[in-house]
Amino acid sequence: MSQEKDPHVRIQELKKDKVKFVLENVDLALANSIRRVMMADIPTIAIDMVEIESNTTVLPDEFIAHRLGQIPLVSTNCDEAIRYTRDCTCMDGCKYCTVILNLNVACNEEGKTMMITSNHLEVALWGEEVDQIGKDEIGVEPILITKIRKGMELKVRCVAKKGIAKEHAKWSPCSAVGFEYDPHNRLRHTTYWFESDERAEWPLSDNAQLEEPVKEDEPFDYNAKPTRFYMDVETDGSLGPQEVVLKGLQELQTKLANLVLGLKQEPEAEMATGADQSLPQTNGHPTAGWGAPAAGAGGWGQTSPNGTGAGAGWGSPVAAGAWGGSPGTSNWSAPPAAPTGWGTSPAPAGSGWSPRPPGSAGWGGSSPQQAGWNV
Ligand SMILES: [Zn+2]
Repeated sequence: MSQEKDPHVRIQELKKDKVKFVLENVDLALANSIRRVMMADIPTIAIDMVEIESNTTVLPDEFIAHRLGQIPLVSTNCDEAIRYTRDCTCMDGCKYCTVILNLNVACNEEGKTMMITSNHLEVALWGEEVDQIGKDEIGVEPILITKIRKGMELKVRCVAKKGIAKEHAKWSPCSAVGFEYDPHNRLRHTTYWFESDERAEWPLSDNAQLEEPVKEDEPFDYNAKPTRFYMDVETDGSLGPQEVVLKGLQELQTKLANLVLGLKQEPEAEMATGADQSLPQTNGHPTAGWGAPAAGAGGWGQTSPNGTGAGAGWGSPVAAGAWGGSPGTSNWSAPPAAPTGWGTSPAPAGSGWSPRPPGSAGWGGSSPQQAGWNV
C-alpha cells in the first residue's frame, strides 16, 4: 500500500528556469494541490500601476502598461522583504510595500531603430530588505517593451507591488506547471480517441520508459490508484524552480495550518464567550483561519491576506518564525521523509532541496535565478 511508504522525490532534470522531478508515494490530490499552489499562491513582485508622463511611441499607453506588467522582476526574498500594500500602514506606497521603477528613453539618432527593453528600467525606490530586481545579466536577452525611432520617447513611472497569481497572472512565478501520471494508461483514466490503431496514433511519452508496460493479458485492477507523478515546473525567472517548489510546499502547509488553527480556536472562543453550542460553527471558521489568529500564531499570520496583526514580522526576515523565513527553516530542511525523499537528487550533487545551498549545484541558491528580467 502506498500509505505505508514515505513520499519520495527524484530530480530528473534541473535547469535555471525549469525542473523535472518524479514524485512518488503521494496521492493524486496532493500532487495536484502542489501544482496549484505553485501556480497561484506564491508571492512575487510585478509592476501594478504605470503613470505615463510621455508616450510618443507607436504603442498606446494601455499596451505599454500591459507589457510592463508582464515583465518578471526578481522576487527571491520578497515574501519576507516586502509587504502587501493592503497590509502596510502607509497611505499610498512606501519603501516597505512598493518598488518604484522609472523608464525614460528617447531616440535622437537619425535612421536608427532603438529598442526599449527591461534593461532601461531604473529603480527609484527600493526597500533595503529587497535584494534586487535583476537586469543586465550576461548572456540573457532583455525583454523588449517597444521600438522607437528618432523623435519618439517614452517616459513612465512604474509602481511594482507584491501579489499572488490569484489576483492577476502577472504575479505567477511559473510559466507552466504540469504533471503526468500512469503513462501507459494502466488505470484507464484516459479514453483515447483513435481512427484505426490506438497505439500508433497515441505515442507514449518519455515517462513511459520508466514504468512497466501493460501486458496484453493483464487483469485490470479496479482498486489501483496513481502514486507516481512526473512533475514539470517551468518558471518565468522571477523565482528559481527550486524556490517555487519549496515555497509552494510552504504555502500548502501554511494553508493547512491555518485550517487547523481555525478549527482549534473557534470552539474555545465560543466557549469563552459563554456560547452554549457544543459543536463548532462551520460558518465561523474561515474568519478565524484567515484573519491572522492572535494567540500563539507565531509566523502564520504573515502570509494571510488581511493579516494586519502580523506586522512584527515585516522587514525582519529572521524574526518571521519558522514558516516565513527561509534562511532558518529547519522544518523544511528536515521533513520526516527527507532522508529518502528530498535528498536523493541524482543530477545536482548533494542534498539539493535544502533551503541553504550546500554548494554551487543550484538548489536553494539565489544566484542562478536572478535573471528575472529576461526570461
Ligand atoms: Zn507602505
